[in-house]
Amino acid sequence: MKPPSVVRLTPGKRVLFLTKDPELIRKQLRGELDLQMKDLRVEDLLDDINTDAMTPAWVCFDHKPEDLARNAYAGLIVDGKRLFEQDALINGNFEVIVSGYRKGVGSSRETATQAEVWSGIRIAIAASFAPIHAGNNINQGLLMGDHQILSRLQAGEGIPLAEFTKGRDAITKIIIEQGGLFPFAKALDHIELPTPNTPKRPMTMGEKILARHARGNVKYVRPGDALVVDVDGGYTHEFTTAQVHYFLEQEYGPDYAIKNPQKFAVFEDHLIYADDVVRMRPFIPKIEVLRKLQHDFQHHTSCRDFSAVDNVSPGICHEVARELIVDPGDFIQATDSHTCMGGVNNALAWGVGTTEYANLVHSGLTMVEVSESIRFDLVGQLQENVTAKDVMLHILLHYAKPQMTLDRIIEFTGPGLRWLSMDERATLANMATECSARTAIVEADEKTFEWLASIRPGLDVARLRSRAVTPDADAEYAGGIHTIDLAKIAPMVAHPGDPDHGIPSDPTNGARINEIGDVKIDIAYAGSCTAGKIDDLLFYHQVAKEAVDAGRKVADGVTFYIQFGSQMVEKFARDNGLVDTFERAGAIVLNPGCGACIGCGPGVSEVANQVTISAINRNYKGRSGPGKLWLASPLSVAASAFTGHITAYTPGMFARLRQPATVPA
Ligand code: SF4
Repeated sequence: MKPPSVVRLTPGKRVLFLTKDPELIRKQLRGELDLQMKDLRVEDLLDDINTDAMTPAWVCFDHKPEDLARNAYAGLIVDGKRLFEQDALINGNFEVIVSGYRKGVGSSRETATQAEVWSGIRIAIAASFAPIHAGNNINQGLLMGDHQILSRLQAGEGIPLAEFTKGRDAITKIIIEQGGLFPFAKALDHIELPTPNTPKRPMTMGEKILARHARGNVKYVRPGDALVVDVDGGYTHEFTTAQVHYFLEQEYGPDYAIKNPQKFAVFEDHLIYADDVVRMRPFIPKIEVLRKLQHDFQHHTSCRDFSAVDNVSPGICHEVARELIVDPGDFIQATDSHTCMGGVNNALAWGVGTTEYANLVHSGLTMVEVSESIRFDLVGQLQENVTAKDVMLHILLHYAKPQMTLDRIIEFTGPGLRWLSMDERATLANMATECSARTAIVEADEKTFEWLASIRPGLDVARLRSRAVTPDADAEYAGGIHTIDLAKIAPMVAHPGDPDHGIPSDPTNGARINEIGDVKIDIAYAGSCTAGKIDDLLFYHQVAKEAVDAGRKVADGVTFYIQFGSQMVEKFARDNGLVDTFERAGAIVLNPGCGACIGCGPGVSEVANQVTISAINRNYKGRSGPGKLWLASPLSVAASAFTGHITAYTPGMFARLRQPATVPA
């Protein structure tokens, strides 16, 4: 539905403030309290509300928005209990929802937006929004504004719609005015879209790729330009495909078709182990529906099929995509926030919601606003106990926390890159979404092409080389160019915060391991798209071999899970004896796929007092079970598994520990 040209609060409807004080939320939900913006400060409002809190994984097992909205905000847990009981948001009669900074961080799941919209919310107010979530809001026709706008609305003022579209690019403005992406797509025949005429200018890597994919006579772009772009490829997985199929049937009828099905793929990777998680058992019938609908979509569209065979997944979509799908210079869109991992291949790739994906597979093109960029020029060489994961935890703490990366394209360049393998570079690209960045892209070099050629026999390397992009000498980086000396990075963690008391569990909670004191662990998890690559397995093995050679096993009371990112990784690990060492060490080795990372596989915590150290990319409360989740590098995770507390690995540490203590004479 199109929004009105002047937006006012509806008499009788309410405004919900998501405050750091949970009691205030409870009172509002019970109808005992109606707050005004003037009663509160922005600091009183919850920051970093992540999409897992808005719609935890189990809520997304309902693919119809009207069903999943009944459990809106089911992931906001305080003292072990849901703050929002079933139907609480719907029954509250709210039309505005208010929070603090960085609303909608985390997963790209559009269900978070849908849960609000189908509960009656038409305006979301926040100090800032995570970029993918903001895009989902726009696509679903949910207006976004800041706290000043809310004060004026609550004072009875009518706010022109133009204030809600202010600062948006020319095409996004039209999408908002039409009431969302599907109404916009249907009105396209009657709308003339603007084409930017940016004159010749030096461009960043991201700008070059977007300019190359733009429709119309576009040669140069600058941040803020609105483009219609061709999409080279994309993918969904069984967590998201059902909605894409459902939306396409609803919008275009049961005979809908997609453009270029050979460019798009489905993966079975996220829910492959859900049947093994006790907490997931009640949802198995719904998961079966998701699996069936993905199967139906693949048959209906003839897109590429990466389904499980004999219940074994080919691997995590992002890992397999960088191995087999993403080429340098590509523009890739997929329904998962870690789509940015494709940036390691010198491509531009980011996650989108199901509405946007449905629209782009149907039309073959999508609408993009050119983002600003920030550049990290890497110099020096990592110490031997430090990995790319530590670099990202450092960037999250020092650059993402103060919002320097927000909605920007991160570019990784510099001589330090040459010391990082393609797998390590993939970790850099993968965690751009934790930085609330638009995406990340890594400059290509010979290693890029050698790696691609090694895993794709017969590849036309010359063609790929010609597609690669480099930044122009005077390209503009609104976020600045920052030199990071890799030699100065220390082993890092991100701590789980104290979400019950307003300190979110967040990947930006960085600290050096030598600053955190003694933290005992129950679970060590080694895997995910971030840390299930060949080099990650080699890191785990480096530590495990030292430990086993020193006569040690996984520490008493600790369960150590190691999971491959793809079948290619598994083959490498088995062929080279890594699995043998892991098993001798007492680790549990799991087939390829993601699971624990999204709370749907072995490795999730079962009770709130369990402590996990994990090589995954995000530690949002409840994502991997109710316990406390610390993020760390593959080396630190493996070392901790053997010591039983969070430990920075140092080469030779287990051999030294084996030596008998010197007895004084
Ligand atoms: S491993 Fe985790 S972060 Fe990566 S794609 Fe799977 S659920 Fe998402």
